[in-house]
Amino acid sequence: MTDLYRVLPEEMDNLVIKLGQPRYRADQLLHALYHESPKKISDLHQIPSTMQDALVTSGYTIGTQSEVHRITSEDGHTTKLLLKFDDDTLIETVLMQYSPSQDKTHPRSTVCVSTQVGCPMGCVFCATGQMGFEKNLKAEEIVAQVLHFASLLRQRGEHVTNLVFMGMGEPLANYDETIRAIRLLTHPRAFGLGQRSITISTVGVIAGIDKLADEDIQVKLAISLHAPNDVLRKKLVPTAGPHSVEDLISAAKRYFKKTGRRVTFEYALIDGINDSNKVAEELVQILKGNGAHVNLIPMNPTAGGFSRPARKRVLAFQQILRDGGVNCTVRVEKGSEIAAACGQLRTDVIKNITH
Ligand code: SAH
Ligand code: SF4
Repeated sequence: MTDLYRVLPEEMDNLVIKLGQPRYRADQLLHALYHESPKKISDLHQIPSTMQDALVTSGYTIGTQSEVHRITSEDGHTTKLLLKFDDDTLIETVLMQYSPSQDKTHPRSTVCVSTQVGCPMGCVFCATGQMGFEKNLKAEEIVAQVLHFASLLRQRGEHVTNLVFMGMGEPLANYDETIRAIRLLTHPRAFGLGQRSITISTVGVIAGIDKLADEDIQVKLAISLHAPNDVLRKKLVPTAGPHSVEDLISAAKRYFKKTGRRVTFEYALIDGINDSNKVAEELVQILKGNGAHVNLIPMNPTAGGFSRPARKRVLAFQQILRDGGVNCTVRVEKGSEIAAACGQLRTDVIKNITH
């Protein structure tokens, strides 16, 4: 069985020709798939029923997903869904909306997708890391998360404007399916999202970063650094082993050199662990002078017993970076009261189901 949502436009051309149909049928199919939310092949009214039958007998399907749980933050700007696929896989996906700036009529609508169920990296402060690794998601399951929100937004005359790979899992540890999903979501004949509106966040899979720099896709890259030295980083990212902080910074420089796109370093600030003035000064030493941008994320509390620093501490940390010449912002918080940090909703819902 092959899900039509994993078929790239060029492959769709070959498929319709193989079925003895004219090439324009490929565009009809793609348009229906990416802009009309069909639930099954017989919903593809644009194509003749003989072709629908031929697709079914050739083993093509349209996978569906259902919402198991939906929570919306009090301000209505963040919506988090737990989606269930046909094989009972449960994943989280989040929509974050920002108010329109003066010259725009539509809000910025960013979808945060998952690429794996659980995560093999085991970061100690991350709810996904603590659930262990279950499986890699297929490209069609990544695409489905975006299309699910696209269809909800379409009903109110809005659309998805940005995409971040910051949900459950490590995208570069599921490289091929992640790239296939990006190709489908950005291809003008498929979903057509701008490549530059996409950010991939990685904990630092160096081979993946180098490979990504060579792809013909213009995505932005964020590297989750969390510490200025290996001793501290390994406490937070136990699987960081083979890659030192220095290796990550070199990989970011190579990515910039090849692509012309600067890498952002994400830094989850954890109370009493990686938020001291001394640590901030060390971070300045390793990052200054290379145009780095640091995005501080005051951590969302998870089961691991870690907590976020007081606001004063976050601002003091930021000031030290800025004074040292390192560009630094603090992540605008979205929906922490609905547990928007990756993996938390799934953990909470599964707990409620099983206890
Ligand atoms: N695996 C990738 C992408 C998914 S995590 C990565 O680690 O980059 C996306 C971001 O959320 C990462 O920067 C991660 O460090 C951060 N994150 C995970 N758990 C968090 C928590 N409890 N609070 C704040 N940020 C968290
Ligand atoms: Fe995986 Fe990213 Fe969570 Fe680490 S922070 S466990 S890499 S999802």
